[in-house]
Amino acid sequence: MHAKTHTKLIPLLQILSLLFLSVSVNASISLTTEEQRWLAERDPIIVGVAIIPPYLSNKVSGDSPEGISLDYLKLIETSLGADFQYLVFDSYGAMIEAAKQRSIDVVFAASNTESRRHFLDFTKVYSHLANKIFTQKGQYQQAEMSDFNGKRFAVPRGTALVGYIRTNYPDIELVQVDDLSEAFNLLSAGQIEGVGSYASAGYLFSVMEGIDNISIVGSVGYDYHISFASRKDQPLLGVLLNKALSAVTIEQKTEIESRWVQPEDTQRIDKETYVNAIILLVFVLTVAGLLIVIFWNRSLKREVLYRQEIQKEVSFLAYHDELTGAYNRQFLIETLSEYTRLAFSQEKSTCVILLGLDNFSLINEFHGQKIGDYVLQRMSKRLNSRLSGDAVLSRTGGDEFTVLLRKANNQVALSHLADVLIAEISSPIAYGDQSFSLTATAGISIQTEELNEPLRLLEQADLALHEAKRKNRGGYLFYALEMSDKLQERERLAKALSKALHTEQFYLDYQPQVSLDTGEVVGFEALARWQHPDQGNIRPDQFIGLAEQEGLIVTLGDRVLHLACEQGRKWLDQGLEFQRIAVNVSVKQFIENDYVSKVLNTLEQTGLPPSKLELELTESVFLGDRDLAKDTMEKLTRQGICFAIDDFGTGFSSLLYLKELPVSKLKLDQGFIRGITKDHSSLQIVKASLQMGHALSMEVIAEGVETTEEQSLLTELHCQQAQGYLFSRPLKSQLVTADKIAQIRRNVCLVTEA
Ligand code: C2E
Ligand code: CA
Ligand code: CA
Repeated sequence: MHAKTHTKLIPLLQILSLLFLSVSVNASISLTTEEQRWLAERDPIIVGVAIIPPYLSNKVSGDSPEGISLDYLKLIETSLGADFQYLVFDSYGAMIEAAKQRSIDVVFAASNTESRRHFLDFTKVYSHLANKIFTQKGQYQQAEMSDFNGKRFAVPRGTALVGYIRTNYPDIELVQVDDLSEAFNLLSAGQIEGVGSYASAGYLFSVMEGIDNISIVGSVGYDYHISFASRKDQPLLGVLLNKALSAVTIEQKTEIESRWVQPEDTQRIDKETYVNAIILLVFVLTVAGLLIVIFWNRSLKREVLYRQEIQKEVSFLAYHDELTGAYNRQFLIETLSEYTRLAFSQEKSTCVILLGLDNFSLINEFHGQKIGDYVLQRMSKRLNSRLSGDAVLSRTGGDEFTVLLRKANNQVALSHLADVLIAEISSPIAYGDQSFSLTATAGISIQTEELNEPLRLLEQADLALHEAKRKNRGGYLFYALEMSDKLQERERLAKALSKALHTEQFYLDYQPQVSLDTGEVVGFEALARWQHPDQGNIRPDQFIGLAEQEGLIVTLGDRVLHLACEQGRKWLDQGLEFQRIAVNVSVKQFIENDYVSKVLNTLEQTGLPPSKLELELTESVFLGDRDLAKDTMEKLTRQGICFAIDDFGTGFSSLLYLKELPVSKLKLDQGFIRGITKDHSSLQIVKASLQMGHALSMEVIAEGVETTEEQSLLTELHCQQAQGYLFSRPLKSQLVTADKIAQIRRNVCLVTEA
């Protein structure tokens, strides 16, 4: 009856009991003379048997019982040379009672209990039975013995279970039955709540006897450890039984087990076996599943990683500027909306610092995009290095970076940060053997109220930047309300200018340039004028800057060139003597690819000889690609056109480039001339510039001469030419006459001769 103890599922007990019995594997029984005598004198030994299905003892054929216990008994009988007689009882309880009454000598199977030890001696354990709780199907999912307190619970009368339950669960209403068949029938009929029995019995009755509504729901907590027992008043019998049991070999034991348990084991699956099998199956499936998952995961992982990489890349590109790795406008806008939705306070408000790189377009256009890209990448890195982790740096335009912050509304702190960022951009940048210097200007806006329109903050920073570029290049400005008004005004004005360019509203004044030696008018500088119908004269400082920023400057420049050349041709036709007409050229015009052909075409169209045209460039032209500038200048110079450097001394004035370029004239900035009679440094600059110009065989002209003192001093310094209100204000073309020219000449000579 080792149903469960000998299944593969519970091998431990099997191994233990095998070991137990195999202590005397090859031991042959050696009996003492006293034992031999005792045996010889014995009448047949009466062995009490009760039917405990299905294994321990099972009435299979005729009256003689069979089973595991009986097989062991037969081995013992043989090895002792004894004579056993079997007395079969109706119930286990009756058999135990008989043992107590000494009407049997040996008990075929019994648990060793305290009460039984009063009248029985026990051998070693030769089998095990685990006791389970049986209930009607569906009554319990799981149960413990205490669940049956106050309920009817059946166990076979006289078994060790009776004592165990009485002692440990006195509240259980114990129902003692004659055999398990009766117990399971009561249970099946619902007359009792539970049965305590070993599992194989449950199997037997549920399958063999057609009881199908019972199930195992837990353990009783007391298992049978089965031994043989013999009458206590015959101690020698106990010793003999033990000796004989110990002599059973492993092979014999295995044979007995396999005869009763193993051949049918797979079919005789009791509920516990079934549950165990399911547990094992679940376990095996889980392990297999895990293995599959692990392997599947491994290949999946690669796929997932790959997808994650792509995903990362896609989302990176979606939110980053590919060139610099900074965030892009999209990210900025999304983050900005998020920030402006957050609670807004004096301590935590959203701030925008918009940084515009000054003159960046020159680097790009003169040095090529590769270097331009490099500069942007460096700038992005530099800016990032100065920002804390919570600041969002994005590139929001070709030459614009935006810093988004959640910060206290503190202008001092923001000013400081803007200074730091501008300084970072302004430090020189090296590329190969070249080195560039950029400056930056910043516009700053701070959220001061709830914003429904987050983009407003960007617009405000943009306005501040524009204003700063005009008023405070290389510095920063905070957004102020009037900037919005100004912006609208500027937009209106730019539209008006665009329309005005080809009307009478737009025209040129001409300012004579004189030779300080002879008083001769050597040339005229053409100066743009705009007579606005409502606003009157708008100063060139204003509308030229506007045209630069609004992208109108090239159109405007073309128009000026055309008008100037046309006028020059007229004067020549009128017989008016002059050496050159000077036309101001903005950098943006000059770096246009078709600039050379444009100038030549204009000359051809208007009929002005190229030798009569002078182009005034500022030093900023040479900030960019010097080779390109040189090339353009050389092409035009070959046609007879000459170049003057305007506002000389105010730019970054590298004396070196002057040597390389075909420059024929330096125009000393009027700022120096203004100070020439007053401060020493202006005088020094003018002197040095004159020396250098002469050394390079260039003409030098002083601009903005207003007083005779200035004129005298310049003459002393051997400055050959001058331009200024002292000689003549810029004149309307019709005012430029032979008489006017003669008058100017006289004025110059008065001072020279004095
Ligand atoms: P600029 O090229 O330096 O022109 C000289 C400016 O100095 C002119 O101002 C002229 O009127 C002024 N000026 C001449 N003599 C004196 C003087 O003795 N005292 C004072 N205080 N000023 C004197 P304007 O005409 O207002 O032009 C201002 C600037 O506008 C020019 O400076 C030039 O940079 C720009 N500009 C004018 N016309 C054009 C043009 O056609 N194209 C471009 N790109 N720029 C132009
Ligand atoms: Ca000029
Ligand atoms: Ca000038």
